[in-house]
Amino acid sequence: MRYFGKVFRPPSEAYSYILQVTYGCSHNKCTFCNMYKDKNFRVRNVEEVFEDIDMAKERYSKIDRIFLADGDALCLSNEKLIKILDKINESFPYLERIGIYATPKDILKKSINELEELYDNGISIIYMGIESGSDDVLQLINKGATSEEIIMAGKKVKETSIKLSCTLISGIGGRENLQKNALESARVISEIDPEYLGLLSLVLEKGTELDDQVKRGEFELLSPKEVILETRELINNIECTNCVFRSNHVSNYLPLGGNLSRDKDALVDKIDRFLESNPVFKSEKYRSL
Ligand code: SF4
Repeated sequence: MRYFGKVFRPPSEAYSYILQVTYGCSHNKCTFCNMYKDKNFRVRNVEEVFEDIDMAKERYSKIDRIFLADGDALCLSNEKLIKILDKINESFPYLERIGIYATPKDILKKSINELEELYDNGISIIYMGIESGSDDVLQLINKGATSEEIIMAGKKVKETSIKLSCTLISGIGGRENLQKNALESARVISEIDPEYLGLLSLVLEKGTELDDQVKRGEFELLSPKEVILETRELINNIECTNCVFRSNHVSNYLPLGGNLSRDKDALVDKIDRFLESNPVFKSEKYRSL
């Protein structure tokens, strides 16, 4: 198995075989992100990917989950993806699911038929990083997508058989945008109504543009208590039909999880009790994105 540079995957893909079909992120401009700063974006050639699949098959014939990396592997054409999926499906008879990262723009470039074609060939979940639903915040962090594009992309996936997992980041708009970030993110999630929502809490990564903005006094980080208050406002304002919510990542101060339609009151109650308890917040040295 060969890997180039640092490799990332969603928390729920912890037991998946990670297969790099691209290197890096084709956008690579979000101000808070240093995930792929160590490499230039490149699409791997299919033969090279096939060699990796053969190596994985030899070592782990019972692989049942695969995650296609790096940052926005859905930017590949369907022609290329289907060749790779064919090879995966031939090689791993126990395969249950294939997941992939996508930016809103990657999704918008695909037609519904193309997305369904990917589902028919094994892709059953798309992970879309939204970060925030506020246009001001999206512009501030240079996300490369507007809230309208994010909603259109999310709804497009929802029209297909592929499941959608969205990610938001609490604190991503800074102190100035706390309320807006919570309410606008709740609006976008409610409109998309995804099957899964993950909430991270902002961790300032050294060497990023955001780090420089903080040093120059242009961006005020939220205190841990403000992060929790923003999270409360977000959860309280989301209206979803059946969305599994997880906020139990190493970046989070308070682990939360439940179904947003069924457990919303319990989640808000847990936050209130936590805040009333005069909590000692997790040390920054134990948090990472
Ligand atoms: S947050 Fe996602 S889209 Fe933005 S630069 Fe990082 S990997 Fe790319």
